[in-house]
Amino acid sequence: MLDRIAEAAREAGRSPDDVTLVAVSKQQPDEKIDAMLAAGQRVFGENRVQEAMGRWIPRREGVELRLIGPLQTNKVREAVALFDVIETVDREKLAQALAREMARSDTPVRLYVQVNTGEEPQKAGVAPRDVDGFVAFCRDLGLTVEGLMCIPPETEPAEPHFAMLAEMAARNGLTKLSMGMSADYAAAVRLGATSVRVGSALFGGRG
Ligand SMILES: *Cc1c(COP(=O)(O)O)cnc(C)c1O
Repeated sequence: MLDRIAEAAREAGRSPDDVTLVAVSKQQPDEKIDAMLAAGQRVFGENRVQEAMGRWIPRREGVELRLIGPLQTNKVREAVALFDVIETVDREKLAQALAREMARSDTPVRLYVQVNTGEEPQKAGVAPRDVDGFVAFCRDLGLTVEGLMCIPPETEPAEPHFAMLAEMAARNGLTKLSMGMSADYAAAVRLGATSVRVGSALFGGRG
């Protein structure tokens, strides 16, 4: 997998070091996670706070953990305590709760704004037209937004969504792009992804 990501980066004239593989370990058995750790993988993504706590509190040492699923405000305290990166900031109430909890606990967490590039009603994320305003809102709260994240619609080519995310990041002075999953990580790397979130192509199908 790292080979293929590196190849896609080189093809795009980018350095392989500029792309982080986030191994999406949600719903995978512990044996597979432990094998991945033994192989040297250190960055993992989970989509549920509770599931991630059970799995990762005993394995936390030396690992970077990213929350890639929706975050409810009543789980903010646990999420800030567990995760290094929260990629799914998508509404004002959540941004305010994160700002409060990070200040209260003196725990900085790296943040991404999730963008609903396909404007799908069932999907989380800020609408594209609201991104600039929402990033400004976060900054006014004193939050540092590191980048943008998206999950393109399953039924459409992903490239236009990746390109749109890259453009929105650039105009907001953001350098990190979390985009690309098992089916489309190579395209995402070509379009500027700085991290790809790969689950099934790495671990096999989810139980
Ligand atoms: C599950 C998930 C992934 C990984 O999906 P695969 O298709 O298994 O690679 C990536 N991003 C998010 C937000 C996910 O929920």
